[in-house]
Amino acid sequence: MATSTAPKSLLRPMTFPRKLLLGPGPSNMSPRVAAACALPLLGHMHPEFVQIMDEVKEGIQYIFQTNNSLTLAISGTGHAAMEAACCNLLEPGDVILVAWNGTWGERFSDMAARNGADVRIVKKPAGSVFSPQEIEKAVTEHGPRVVYLTHGESSGGTLQPLDGMGVVCRRHGCLLVVDAVASIGGAPLYMDKWGIDVLYTGAQKVLSCPPGASPISFSAAAESKMAARRKKPVSFYLDMGWLANYWGCDGQPRRYHHTAPISNLYALREGLAILAEEGLEDCWRRHRRCAELLHAGLEDMGLTLFVDRPEHRLPTVTPVRVPTGIDWKEVSQYVMKHYKVELSGGLGETANEVWRIGLMGHNATPDNVRLLLRALKEGIDHCRSKVH
Ligand code: PMP
Repeated sequence: MATSTAPKSLLRPMTFPRKLLLGPGPSNMSPRVAAACALPLLGHMHPEFVQIMDEVKEGIQYIFQTNNSLTLAISGTGHAAMEAACCNLLEPGDVILVAWNGTWGERFSDMAARNGADVRIVKKPAGSVFSPQEIEKAVTEHGPRVVYLTHGESSGGTLQPLDGMGVVCRRHGCLLVVDAVASIGGAPLYMDKWGIDVLYTGAQKVLSCPPGASPISFSAAAESKMAARRKKPVSFYLDMGWLANYWGCDGQPRRYHHTAPISNLYALREGLAILAEEGLEDCWRRHRRCAELLHAGLEDMGLTLFVDRPEHRLPTVTPVRVPTGIDWKEVSQYVMKHYKVELSGGLGETANEVWRIGLMGHNATPDNVRLLLRALKEGIDHCRSKVH
């Protein structure tokens, strides 16, 4: 049998430039998080690791502002948390109302349909948000068991007001699912006070961790719906029954379910600790201040923000319109080449229309705002000088 040769590419060291990640995610890891990733592995059932899991759970309860006992981190990125919400909460035939104002409503609809749900949609253009009256009207029309909303729409740059949405859902006997992947820690959110039944986020945005462990929490009402399922969820890996046990949420001795991504959970523990040290409210304020500085700077340059109403702007991700005659990609490439700064394009409806600027966690500093503004201005001037 011929022995295959080792790939030459692997015999060279891995080299790449350091980049400042100011797109919609991931953000740069904070040095403390990077150090946590490098800690020696523990076994996934060792008492020291179990304690780390318990601390991660407490940290998630804090950033979600919830007392829910079914609170843990899904092993996987934000999409895995979305899938976990879908496959555990929904049964074939369940009506779900998805508020769609960008990519995340679109994707959640797709996942819900794959789980056999009867998906109804209430749609608005990217850049706009829903009022409780609009949601109530759609709920009255469709009679869903579950309602989905995106708190931080990273494709359209909106911050969905949630206060009052839980009350609407309660009144009509449905559960409220909220995606806070792009917003947690960057804008106020109170899971229990606002009556949210399922909330999830990711690690690689405000928490400044590597992607791969995604916090999620379920209310008692969501737990009751899951307990009454006729059939098990189709996914074994994301089955909340198993995960509740593995994370010590069901009062039973922990059983092996899967090997937790140990280093990702060290990182998440550190990211949560950094946020706890700063304080949630101070972290919200820092993101708001940086976003305002950025928005003012962009407007001073004569650019137009994609989201009109300041109170609907997501502090963590800002889409800004690409001026006519300018190629967004050329500017992004200029900024990367000369500043090693990531400046992303749009997504879905906003593709080719906007740049998206992320200021999250470790990266949300006034210095980074100033650097980005300077790099962007230079990039646009460079493109203009080529046009004329
Ligand atoms: N929801 C929102 C609002 C997001 O911004 C993202 C990531 N851009 C996701 C879900 C999916 O997360 P991931 O890429 O970590 O799977």
